[in-house]
Amino acid sequence: MTTLETGTPGTGGTHSAPDAFDSLDPATGEVVGTHPIADTAAVDAAVARAREAAQWWSGLTFAQRRTHLDAWAGVITRRIAQLADVMRAETGKPHSDAQLEAVMAIGHLTWAAKNAPKVLGRKRVPSGMDMIDHAATVEYLPLGVVGVIGPWNYPVFTPMGSIAYALAAGNAVVFKPSEFTPGVGAWLVDTFTQAVPDHPVLQLVTGLGATGEALCRSGVDKLAFTGSTATGKKVMAACADTLTPVVIEAGGKDALLVDADADLDAAVDAALWGGMSNAGQTCVGTERVYVHEGVYDAFVARLTDLAATIRAGTDPDAQIGPMTMPTQSAVVRRHVLDALDRGGRAVVGGPDSVGEKLIQPTVLVDVPEDSIAVTEETFGPTLTVAKVRDMDEAVRLTNASRYGLGAAVFSKRRGMEIARRIRSGMTAVNSVIAFAAIPSLPFGGVGQSGFGRIHGPDGLREFTFAKSVARRRMPALMAITSFTRTAKTDKILTTLTTLRHGRG
Ligand code: NDP
Repeated sequence: MTTLETGTPGTGGTHSAPDAFDSLDPATGEVVGTHPIADTAAVDAAVARAREAAQWWSGLTFAQRRTHLDAWAGVITRRIAQLADVMRAETGKPHSDAQLEAVMAIGHLTWAAKNAPKVLGRKRVPSGMDMIDHAATVEYLPLGVVGVIGPWNYPVFTPMGSIAYALAAGNAVVFKPSEFTPGVGAWLVDTFTQAVPDHPVLQLVTGLGATGEALCRSGVDKLAFTGSTATGKKVMAACADTLTPVVIEAGGKDALLVDADADLDAAVDAALWGGMSNAGQTCVGTERVYVHEGVYDAFVARLTDLAATIRAGTDPDAQIGPMTMPTQSAVVRRHVLDALDRGGRAVVGGPDSVGEKLIQPTVLVDVPEDSIAVTEETFGPTLTVAKVRDMDEAVRLTNASRYGLGAAVFSKRRGMEIARRIRSGMTAVNSVIAFAAIPSLPFGGVGQSGFGRIHGPDGLREFTFAKSVARRRMPALMAITSFTRTAKTDKILTTLTTLRHGRG
């Protein structure tokens, strides 16, 4: 174990060697591990190795790739408790939450491997009347090498949403985990290497932000970024220089809407778990709650009671752990103070609940809609709860956010209708965050939450390019794509087009 020399705000920790850094246990500040800082040359070398590996990997059949990916899923499953230990050490999250996260990631990995042939494999498509002499096929081919940059809050589930789908689609991957969770990244790549020992199909590059930027500039064929909106913009700018396409999975400010006819106990339970689990450090965590005026008082009373049973701590019985990133506590405190300064009230917790490492649950009411606790991502165990006249107002306020990642609706009669009106990539009805655990559902945002999709068929296609082939299957009935095209052909074509479309 190395002694931490200086704690640099916003970094996992600096190490005595200039080319290495420490990851820390957020509960104790102790060094969990020391990892190399990959510079541009090291990143470029990893991408060059990945290019060779991609040749082999993309040449396998879907079934062969599935065998390898299932073997990796087997290793992860058998060693899941060990993985959860590493996650807990680097993030502070409860062991059982860490295990749940790994279970969900395994579900995605095996779904992607199983469904890749159906989603991406070659398919015949109709060629149309004018081109009846051709057969048309489309298939989705791997891009080559995909760079994945991940955050620390869900250090397994989140990057696996890109890694699993990119690999299943036939790409090699170079993965840069967050500087707070390099040990989790190393664990994932090490276990992959056990399952696929001979080719570096999945590689790790560790380091700080500069290592991520080097990956953006390394000439990868696509960059899948998950992290804050601010860093997402930097990633896009760096990738623009080489016209590298990007997936941006960025921040959110998810709302939970409670209608007058909602099952209130279920809605309270969901709001509390959606807002407080993982200490609120969840991209699709609930941050805002809009409750119909008819049930508002009852909702707030029950939420207040239930929130009193939730405690942040570093002991095994605490439902939520410490903040993973030391600087986040200051953000949470700023949001809570701003809300209170502007007329809000804390019915649970308050500024005194925001410690340096531990933040106890805080529920704020009467907070103005333009306060930063409502407009900006708080990323802590806090909720704002607002009373609305009806669900139209709830939808309007929900959609007033510049973010659009997830949402939840509690309503017995109108859940689907309200869900469809919310401008977000995903919405859960009468539950919360459920969409993340359903591998066949695409996951991603709109607006400042980013673009592109991981998970589901869209998540597989995201890491491919569509390859279309038109193959002549009989002699030309009419020479259309030739200088030999005649006036008679033109006439037949316009007549056919008029007959088919001219009456509209
Ligand atoms: P950051 O944006 O701080 O970092 C994300 C990753 O980007 C890290 O690996 C980071 O490296 C790297 N990075 C930092 N600077 C650069 C740069 N200039 N170029 C390239 N890469 C860089 O996010 P957090 O890790 O703090 O994660 C929390 C955020 O992630 C929240 O906003 C949350 O909402 C969002 N998130 C979104 C999800 C989604 O699916 N939409 C899912 C999970 C989280 P380093 O850590 O070394 O600085």
